[in-house]
Amino acid sequence: MSVAETAVKTFAELSFEEKLDRLAEVAVKVGLGLREGQELIMTAPMEALPLARKITEHAYKAGALLVTTFYADDPSVLARFENAPDASFDYAPVWLQDGVAAGFRGGAARLAIAGANPALLAKQDPAKVSRANVAASKAAKPAMELITRHEINWTIVAYATPEWAKLVFPGEPEAIAVAKLWDAIFVASRIAVDDPVKEWQEHGSRLKKRVDMLNAKRFHSLHFKSPITDLTVGLADDHLWAGGGTTAGNGIYCQPNIPTEECFTTPHKDRVDGTVKATKPLSHQGTLIENIAVRFEGGKIVEATATAGEDVLNRLISTDEGARRLGEVALVPHSSPIAQSGVLFWNTLFDENAASHIALGQAYSTCLIGGEKMDDAALAKLGANSSLIHVDWMIGSGEMDVDGISTDGSAEPLMRKGEWV
Ligand code: ZN
Ligand code: ZN
Repeated sequence: MSVAETAVKTFAELSFEEKLDRLAEVAVKVGLGLREGQELIMTAPMEALPLARKITEHAYKAGALLVTTFYADDPSVLARFENAPDASFDYAPVWLQDGVAAGFRGGAARLAIAGANPALLAKQDPAKVSRANVAASKAAKPAMELITRHEINWTIVAYATPEWAKLVFPGEPEAIAVAKLWDAIFVASRIAVDDPVKEWQEHGSRLKKRVDMLNAKRFHSLHFKSPITDLTVGLADDHLWAGGGTTAGNGIYCQPNIPTEECFTTPHKDRVDGTVKATKPLSHQGTLIENIAVRFEGGKIVEATATAGEDVLNRLISTDEGARRLGEVALVPHSSPIAQSGVLFWNTLFDENAASHIALGQAYSTCLIGGEKMDDAALAKLGANSSLIHVDWMIGSGEMDVDGISTDGSAEPLMRKGEWV
C-alpha cells in the first residue's frame, strides 16, 4: 500500500457511505455520548435504514448492551388516516410507550432519526390529525418527561428522505433534490470538516461562552423588535440559559440536537405581551402552517391567525391550558450556517437553528436553577409552563433587534439586525 492511499481523505473526497458513517459516528460519540454497557432505543423512518444500521454498528463498537429500533412508515401512517375507523384517532399504544419509559428508567439512551415527509398529513382532516396527536402525546408523556427533564442522554439527527428533499428543493429531479439536502444536512450538522468530533467540542464551548454571559446578566425579560414584531418575553424566576450540550441526570454529557446553534431558556408563562409574526413556515406533525401571527396578553395567546393551516394552529393551541403559553425562548444569530445556507428545511431540527424562536407548551425544567429536582407545582411557581405540546416556531430575522431588560427596567442591546452585539 502506498503512502498516498493511506493519507486521510478530505470530506469532499469521501464516498456517500463514508459520509453517512461519519454522521453515525458523531451521533453516537457526540450526540449521545453513549456509555459502555448502555442500552439504546432508536426511532427512525423506514427510508433511514442505511443510517440506522451504521448508528447501530457504532453503538455496539462503543459498547452498547442492546440497540432496539422502531421504524415508522409514511405510507402506513397515511393508510391509517384514509381507512381506519373513527375510534382509531383517539387511541395510542400506551403499553408500548410505557415500555419505552421503563427502558429509559432502566438506563437506556434515546436516539431519533428525523426525516419523515413534513407534508404527509397536509391533505388529511385537521380534526383527526389533532386527535391522533393528542392521544399520542398523552401516551408518550411518561417517556417524554424523562427527555424534557434531561434525565437521560438523547439526541436527534436527520436523514434526507426523498419526499422531504422534494419539498425542500421543489422543481429538482428527485436524485438531485436528495443530494442537495444531504449536502445541506452534512454542512449544518458540522461533519463536513476534517475532524468533526473536535469541531463539535469547539462549537460547544463557543455556545457555552454565550450561555455563561446570559446567565451572569439575570435579565428580567427580553424585548424583540422588528418591523413585524413587538414582543416582550418575561423570563422565569431562577431561569437558566442552556446551549451547546447538556449533562443529563444520568451524568452523561450529550448534544440533544444535531445540529444546534441556539442559546435557550425558560420564559415566564404569565409575562409575555405583544405581537409577533413567524418568519418561517412551521411544519408540525405532517401539516404545514404558514405566516403565523399571534398576540399575547399576560402570557396567553389571545389572537392567532395563519394564511395556511390556521385550523391546525387553533387546534394546536387548544390542546390544553399550557398550549397557549410559552415554554421556551431561544436566541440564534442570523449568521448561523443554517440561516446563511438560505435553505428552508420544513423541519424544526434545522429551521429552529436558523433563527431566534419561541416554543409553545412544555418548558424544560433543566432551564431553571435546581429545576430537575422540582415537582410540577414548584416549577409552575417559578413561571415554568406545562403542556402536552412543545412546538418551536421562528421569529428571528436579519431585521430583529433584541434587548435584555433588567429588573430596574434598563435595557441592554443583545442583538442588532439579527446579530449578537
Ligand atoms: Zn429551541
Ligand atoms: Zn424547543
